[in-house]
Amino acid sequence: MVHTPSRPPADAPAVRVNLYSDTQTRPSVAMKQAMMVAEVGDEQHGDDPTVHALCDRMAAMLGKEAAVFLPSGTMCNQVAILTHCRPGDEVLAHKHAHIITSEGGAPGALAGVMVTGLDGARGMFDADTLREAFRERRRHAPPQSLVEVEQTANFGGGAVWPIDQLNAVLDAAHEQGLATHMDGARLMNAVVASNVAAKDMVAGCDSVWLDFTKGLGAPLGAVLCGSAEFIDAAWRWKQRLGGSMRQAGICAAACLYALDHNIDRLAEDHANARLLSRGLAQIPGLLVEEPETNLVFFDTSATGLTAAELADRARMQGVMFSAMGRYRGRACTHLDVDRAGIEEGVRVISRLLAV
Ligand SMILES: *Cc1c(COP(=O)(O)O)cnc(C)c1O
Repeated sequence: MVHTPSRPPADAPAVRVNLYSDTQTRPSVAMKQAMMVAEVGDEQHGDDPTVHALCDRMAAMLGKEAAVFLPSGTMCNQVAILTHCRPGDEVLAHKHAHIITSEGGAPGALAGVMVTGLDGARGMFDADTLREAFRERRRHAPPQSLVEVEQTANFGGGAVWPIDQLNAVLDAAHEQGLATHMDGARLMNAVVASNVAAKDMVAGCDSVWLDFTKGLGAPLGAVLCGSAEFIDAAWRWKQRLGGSMRQAGICAAACLYALDHNIDRLAEDHANARLLSRGLAQIPGLLVEEPETNLVFFDTSATGLTAAELADRARMQGVMFSAMGRYRGRACTHLDVDRAGIEEGVRVISRLLAV
């Protein structure tokens, strides 16, 4: 049976502290005002000036020739895989990569590629592990065409790739003749946490995208960047997948607003994540991973509760976090949760686990 998201039960208490995901933010009044006055046109026809402004700005920011606006991060990953690969190809990624765990099997279903998952701590692998996965180019072996990395590594605990490790991996891919793609859903969290400029961080990536709905406060939208030739080919897949839009400038305006107002403040989310992890670490039974950015993962096994059981109980007290594994919970900080909210979340979970 397929799990279809259901509406919350009518008697569920109001959510007071939402640590479920950094996608749960609501567009602010100021963001909505920017959307309201956006100049728009037919995006599919190439006539939306606000979409052009967003794409130009992103291409410049990431040091790439061109960019394309897409509705979601998942579509960015899939359009990139479809553009870089042919059916039967092999893609190399970390075994916990979002493209393996969370995109409905799309690499197989849409691009007809197989994705091989590599080992490595905190959602990252090193150049030696990658080289071990390289196959000889022979008739029997699947052609390897793409290496994918995730910045920050979501299931890796929001980990930031150290720039030297990242570049060594991307160089090894290129030496082997493979293209490189970065799932930059939370790229700006990595930039803010590491103080490495976005352009330098993605210099070795043939394609890279940023999600505007992950902690940046926009209601939808992601931008995929690469060479002019790559983006030209990506446009055909955008069209085929139904990702070409009409007056999309109304959404691009929200993304431009996010670039102006919601990047530097990610540092606050990171500080709140540290506050949250320190608070949760005080609770007997919770084993908390040290956060590097805005994601706080913790193990519930010593409490006798699964992560989902604890999440359900917290939800009944108005606090939301997510269960990412049987005993692995994830709490996520973002612009709609302040310090007081973090403290309240810790208090509620602490009370639930008091013996
Ligand atoms: C959320 C996420 C995506 C997909 O983005 P959507 O905008 O939700 O489609 C891809 N990769 C990672 C690492 C993510 O966290």
